[in-house]
Amino acid sequence: MAYQCKDCSYTCKGTFPEGRCPACGSYRIGIKGLGAKEEKARKNSIWLAVTVSLWLILAWLIYQKL
Ligand SMILES: [Zn+2]
Repeated sequence: MAYQCKDCSYTCKGTFPEGRCPACGSYRIGIKGLGAKEEKARKNSIWLAVTVSLWLILAWLIYQKL
């Protein structure tokens, strides 16, 4: 997991030393890449679950008519 300074966008793998940015000394540190990438993956898994459920319902309906 990489961390990024929110003030100067300095990026560091692992935690920043002393919990602050070594480049500008800011304490505003965020986790890089969190949000966009992970949220997209989570949305994809929700959509996958919805799609699978719909196909199961459809298959069940077809099965009921046979
Ligand atoms: Zn910084």
